Amino acid sequence: MGLDVVPFGPAARYDLPVTVPSRRVPVDDDRFHDRCGLFGIFGHPEAAHLTYLGLYAQQHRGQESAGIVASDGEGLRIEKGMGLVSDIFTDDRLAALEGDRAMGHVRYSTAGDTVAANAQPYLIECHRGPIAVGHNGNLVNAAILRHELEAAGSIFQSTSDTEVILHLYARSHRERLEDAIAASLSKVMGAFSLLFLTRDALVAARDPWGFRPLVLGQLNGAPVVASETCALDLIDAEYVRDIEPGELVVADRDGVRSFHPFPPEPVSQCVFEHIYFARPDSLVFGRNVLSSRLALGRQLAREAPADGDIVVPVPDSGMGAALGFAQESGLPFEWGLIRNHYVGRTFIEPKQSIRSFGVKIKLNPVRRILEGKRVVLIDDSIVRGTTSRKIVGMVRAAGAREVHLRISSPPTTGPCHYGIDTPRRSELIASRQSVEEIRAFIAADSLAYLSHDGLLRAVSDAEGKRHCTACFSGRYPVAVNHTEDQLDLFDKARA
Ligand code: SF4
Repeated sequence: MGLDVVPFGPAARYDLPVTVPSRRVPVDDDRFHDRCGLFGIFGHPEAAHLTYLGLYAQQHRGQESAGIVASDGEGLRIEKGMGLVSDIFTDDRLAALEGDRAMGHVRYSTAGDTVAANAQPYLIECHRGPIAVGHNGNLVNAAILRHELEAAGSIFQSTSDTEVILHLYARSHRERLEDAIAASLSKVMGAFSLLFLTRDALVAARDPWGFRPLVLGQLNGAPVVASETCALDLIDAEYVRDIEPGELVVADRDGVRSFHPFPPEPVSQCVFEHIYFARPDSLVFGRNVLSSRLALGRQLAREAPADGDIVVPVPDSGMGAALGFAQESGLPFEWGLIRNHYVGRTFIEPKQSIRSFGVKIKLNPVRRILEGKRVVLIDDSIVRGTTSRKIVGMVRAAGAREVHLRISSPPTTGPCHYGIDTPRRSELIASRQSVEEIRAFIAADSLAYLSHDGLLRAVSDAEGKRHCTACFSGRYPVAVNHTEDQLDLFDKARA
């Protein structure tokens, strides 16, 4: 009679089935997110490849889908897909994008909105010929316009507000391309930095408030447009200037022409680009982003000094401000938290895990640096407060004697309606709790935010005449006529 011998020792690992239940969970990512990045070039033999590189440099502006459309003057060809730029574009796909003019788009979206139909650019054929569009921003009257267009017979293929612009363009009776685009854009309200590509021209447009960035460059005489200058740097293009709020720029065989077809509005460039969204090496709204973050940190140290031994950034977003804080306060800057740069948006967690991996997947505390220290922890913002609470707990668990949290922006009290993915107002901890209540929730020894005036001073706009600060101040430059519940209903109806 044989015996059932259960292997013992290391071999057991191979002989016994291991069935650890698992589930895919989001990486702890309690942040505002920029939704899109743009790149376009006209009149360069390697237009599609350069667009690929331009998008690659701006991957931080959107990681869920990417697309490139190119033209040889005859037709428009498009390649797009879900995922990162480097995953989507193979040599074959880029080789299919023939021609000396191209433009591309990277996109971030909320989970329910993550569908291939929403990947941009959009390409349509209308009575004017083919046209493609890529959009960074958010239109506050898109739902109403869409309703009117659908009632008039338009059929939409996606849930994105950008498609509204194409329907308006297709209906325009204006003859010149720039007039038809301007006429369609004069009907929309809100934030748009846009690129259009036709067989004959690349057109860039920026809303009159200038919410989202857009810059003009040139490479060996070929005009280049991008959301951020880091895209120009990668391809050795020269930065020429920002495309102005309310400006429409046409690049074609005749050169580059500029128009100002919209009535002027108070300039309201998104200050959060300087606080968090943009790459620190970029020029945004004519100003280097790292310089802004250093200034934010220095201002924070002046306004809210802390009795600490070391200054530690929450990487990567708190880096510039922490350096500025350390310079101003004279406290040493230390790498007390290390970030894993290779995490995606989700990871597989064992179901029966006895603790939440959450933030630990992304950040690891360095005990040797933190142990016994009074730590001044610097971050750029607090959204729901849950991540800050975990980070403070993690720093304390690594031996910190005290944790003093300093935030390089004012309390975030309202959502963004101009192209940034934000939670609802009720989910923003600062919309319903005082600073002291937030401090108690995140269990820090002290908590202080930068003041609104200090924020503006740090970005050299003491008068507050150049930036939108609505998510801090509640002063929205373009009125939003819907309640959050109505906006949710619109979104559900469109999904
Ligand atoms: Fe930027 Fe906030 Fe204004 Fe949105 S509301 S554009 S995130 S400053």
